Amino acid sequence: MASPIEEIKSRLDIADVVGGYVKLQKAGANLRARCPFHAEKTPSFFVSPARQSWHCFGGCSKGGDMFKFVMEIEGMEFGEALKLLAHKAGVELTRYEGSMGKVSTERTRLQELSELAAQFFETQLASSQKGNEAKEYLAQRGMSVESVKKWRLGYAPGNGKALIDFLSSRGYSMGEISRAGLTAQSNNSSVDRFRSRIMFPVFDLSSQVIGFGGRIFGEKEKEDLSKYINTPNTPLYDKSRVLYGLDKARVALHKADSCVLVEGYMDVIMVSQAGFENVVASSGTALTPLQLKLLKRYTENLSLAFDMDSAGDNATKRGIELAIESGFSIKVVSMPQGKDPADVASEQPSLWKELCEGAGSILDFYFASALAKFDKSLPEHKRKISQELLPMIKRIPNSIEQSHWVQKLAKELEVSEQTIREELLKVRVSPLESKEEALVNVPVKKTRKELLEERFLLLLFRNPGLLSELDMERIAFLPASLQEMVAGILKAGSLDVAKLESVFPEETLNLLRYLAMKAEVEEDVGQTELEFRSCLLELELLDVRKKLDMLSVAIRSAEQQNDAKKLEALMKEFEEISRSLK
Ligand code: ZN
Repeated sequence: MASPIEEIKSRLDIADVVGGYVKLQKAGANLRARCPFHAEKTPSFFVSPARQSWHCFGGCSKGGDMFKFVMEIEGMEFGEALKLLAHKAGVELTRYEGSMGKVSTERTRLQELSELAAQFFETQLASSQKGNEAKEYLAQRGMSVESVKKWRLGYAPGNGKALIDFLSSRGYSMGEISRAGLTAQSNNSSVDRFRSRIMFPVFDLSSQVIGFGGRIFGEKEKEDLSKYINTPNTPLYDKSRVLYGLDKARVALHKADSCVLVEGYMDVIMVSQAGFENVVASSGTALTPLQLKLLKRYTENLSLAFDMDSAGDNATKRGIELAIESGFSIKVVSMPQGKDPADVASEQPSLWKELCEGAGSILDFYFASALAKFDKSLPEHKRKISQELLPMIKRIPNSIEQSHWVQKLAKELEVSEQTIREELLKVRVSPLESKEEALVNVPVKKTRKELLEERFLLLLFRNPGLLSELDMERIAFLPASLQEMVAGILKAGSLDVAKLESVFPEETLNLLRYLAMKAEVEEDVGQTELEFRSCLLELELLDVRKKLDMLSVAIRSAEQQNDAKKLEALMKEFEEISRSLK
């Protein structure tokens, strides 16, 4: 039996899989688009239907097969991408279970456990007495039965261990239940983390349950408990990369080319229910780099609809600055006093629409709050106002936009634009992305030698006739890995990657697919043979220079050791090689 991976690949076409996420256009034998993984103006992202592979020749240099694409664009692990594509292809993974042992990792166990927990809470909401009270409360707040179902709301009973008992009876260990973030410690024993709460399951991009938020409900509401609690970070749930509602908002985000960011679960559900489906919530109001990266796949227009009193918080401000720096255009939806998006959207949908359409720029918001806080007629306060606003202005990547705010600030403070620009130069803003995240984005820089080796292979793909110029002796100076590749190609007598599949391991095949596509995609300036020969020559020279460098080191150490005989031999060798250079 073929592996499920092969089965899926034979049933699906990469153009359809990728085309489901990005708009592809025909470009010769390939398809192309603007890369969904990095910002670019000219499309350098290519898909090859012939080789069933994709590659970005722009900034991010990502590439691979359809599985790799889904993993990248959905932010999934391999096992999850496999499930998603299997579903799309109509391949039943259970048929392969024996051979798929590895995919059923701890992660899968935790996913199954979380799904069961969600079902448990749903049942409690539907059929327990307390659950019915919770259902009534939701109805009073305007939530429809369909929404309760769509967002899979539930109820967590108030007695200490109902969920733990249920999951244990289904064969899950305490360790697993606790790793899924569903337990808490009370008087030295484990109890349910969520007790007497209305439950909001949190989903990943493929709508699988990965965690929960719980709103206190019932008598417990009178006690001094947090109104909302969430799953702590677990192997499944990382709050810095989750946006609540994103799995359901994706199409709407694309369509509206904008995203409304609200604060709470209720806000997301009620706004979405009112027909404005381009809405998500971050856990807390501070946006993280990972969340922004996720959002950027769909839109660069962000409207904030939450209590802007918190916009002065350092965390919130940092998230907003980060979004500005990443090129997002950010607006502020000003809410009527004492109302939250859930209320407005469900009570007055037309007002919600108006508020969203009338949203002002975040910079206008910060201008207004700085000008309200200080008296701009006082020199000292002018300085304070500029100190609040300049770091924000400094982060705007587009210089035209930046210039607009410079002008505005100059006008408000009644100073010259030049003065503002000089001050702007003095502002030091620290990079907001953490080092770790920045590293992920920077492709490894290739050395000259690596570039030449790649070029050498690429030129072969462009003109397979050049194969006849090669024999193993001619390329004896190339690294062993490259020699092996050439030997394999010579033996197969072809550069058709499909014909090389039985010759090379997958890693090599991926490289060859990448080079084949690059050769097709690049403009051919008609100097292939010439470039090929000079490429080989330069590689040979690099090899000789390396040998000479190594000899120099050996010569120096022979000198230090006063080993005359060795020194003489080394010198002779050095001269011979040097002569060959000329
Ligand atoms: Zn790219």
